[in-house]
Amino acid sequence: MSHVLAAVAWPYANGPRHIGHVSGFGVPSDVFSRYMRMAGHDVLMVSGTDEHGTPIQVQADADGVTPRELADRYNRVIVEDLHGLGLSYDLFTRTTTRNHYAVVQELFEGMHRNGYIVPKTTMGAISPSTGRTLPDRYIEGTCPICGYDSARGDQCDNCGNQLDPIDLIDPKSRINGETPKFVETEHFFLDLPALADVLRQWLDTREGWRPNVLRFSRNLLDDLQPRAITRDLEWGVPIPLDGWRDRPDKRIYVWFDAVIGYLSASIEWARRSGDPEAWRKYWNAKDAEGGVPSADGVGGDARGYYFMGKDNIVFHSVIWPALLSGYSGEGSRDGEPGRLGRLNLPTEVVSSEYLTMEGKKFSSSRRVVIYVRDFLERYDADALRYFIAAAGPESNDTDFTWAEFLRRNNDELVAGWGNLVNRSVSMAAKNFGAIPPVDPAGLTEADEALLAVARAGFATVGDLIARHRQKQAIGEAMRVVAEANRYLSEQAPWKLKGEDDKPRMGTILHVALQVVSDANTLLTPFLPHSAQKVHELLGGTGVHAPMPVIEEVEDLDGGPAYPVLTGDYTVGARWESVPLEAGRPLAAPKPVFRKLDPSIVDEELARLAD
Ligand SMILES: [Zn+2]
Repeated sequence: MSHVLAAVAWPYANGPRHIGHVSGFGVPSDVFSRYMRMAGHDVLMVSGTDEHGTPIQVQADADGVTPRELADRYNRVIVEDLHGLGLSYDLFTRTTTRNHYAVVQELFEGMHRNGYIVPKTTMGAISPSTGRTLPDRYIEGTCPICGYDSARGDQCDNCGNQLDPIDLIDPKSRINGETPKFVETEHFFLDLPALADVLRQWLDTREGWRPNVLRFSRNLLDDLQPRAITRDLEWGVPIPLDGWRDRPDKRIYVWFDAVIGYLSASIEWARRSGDPEAWRKYWNAKDAEGGVPSADGVGGDARGYYFMGKDNIVFHSVIWPALLSGYSGEGSRDGEPGRLGRLNLPTEVVSSEYLTMEGKKFSSSRRVVIYVRDFLERYDADALRYFIAAAGPESNDTDFTWAEFLRRNNDELVAGWGNLVNRSVSMAAKNFGAIPPVDPAGLTEADEALLAVARAGFATVGDLIARHRQKQAIGEAMRVVAEANRYLSEQAPWKLKGEDDKPRMGTILHVALQVVSDANTLLTPFLPHSAQKVHELLGGTGVHAPMPVIEEVEDLDGGPAYPVLTGDYTVGARWESVPLEAGRPLAAPKPVFRKLDPSIVDEELARLAD
């Protein structure tokens, strides 16, 4: 058993999330966490909404609300959507908690003390007519990288690159159109060059990463520059240094605060669990001798897996490890760990590629989008989870089309897995009313062969999930389903109508139901909602696949209350074959999946075109 941190990318709370988002970070991290728990590991899965930064403030200004009000609105929407998908977070929180502020400031101070955060004079914008600082969000101009003509002072929404206002071509104030004046101003920078060696050593010890992620990360190290980590902005975490703490116009940059969320959410989870130090099992792991963590920062039994889309690799494979190393005092300037101790670096950065929609990039403004909420109003969560696992953007950009969604749902889920469950449970219920016994004459070679295929699936599918090859993993689980369907067709138990044939019919159905039970366990990390239903159809009781719950909680340090996702995942099925007992009553058969009418394809395409 090891302690496994599943650190899931933080959705940005400036609007509802679409299915492209959850296919990148949400479903893959849940499949992994569910499997690891079933296999006996102690998993902590954390995330939350990312609520600071210019885009939230800009959107709030446009809507005539405060940034906090806007964040409250979308935090709740996102919590409800992730709940609807059955994502089993131990804690899904947010970046506006007082706990998060305190942890961000602790990391900032620790890194500053160790010399990895340095002040630097840079050029900042002021309004020539008022002489006041012009915040980043009020500056607009042409992106120097892609030529987009409404890039903002801190970021280009077209190409996604981070910018400084002074980089913009033809910058203009959004307030009155005047050209801002650039004057010297002080900001803090993360001294990445002082951390380059430790990052390189750490990357050199990484195993099993997707090659493109490792290559991309190594290339980033070749040209590391100090990076600004404060901005001219009012909405964010204050800078915890004398002379800066009370300044209303300077804040810690949103990307610095958001990545620290993995740690602050772990600490919040521990504080809420009644053991405030419990987070350390996942972050300050000791090596096998019980000493300090090994040189790469990853202790003996603690593992940290980070899940995100590819546009966020840099934050997880360079920036976040740099912050952790600087805080722990491990760069070229040395230093001492702060009160949180020496912190583990990621074991693996698991990045997915992009999902497109009917051949186009998802875009809320161009309405090439389907929001999670709208999807879940019309279709089942497991239908989407199945599509993402079987056909999602695991290692290539992948297109979501309604035709393919329909085909996967109807031909694979309904006609493959659903049909196997249905016909074996119905036939056994009708002829025996319970799990039938095995004929004392014993099992045939075909019976044994099928049972062996299902049993072997536990090692194969489990290993593939542990190595983040979920597409192959669900393919292997569905291969067991296909074998079982073939077995039923060949054995044709429905032809064994005579009284003399009944013992053999019972054996065939017993074998089929045992394989249904095993395949159901293999599919549980992918399809938890239907796995619970299949478990009950087989006469099982209690929780098979635990589900998250939404709880309204008080801020631990006196801030406003908010909703979190959490759950008790210590219950539920284990990753093993459980022998079915003959005589156990079966539930009344009912379909597990919904067959979709082909007309949904045209209906959905018409919605996109509207
Ligand atoms: Zn651009």
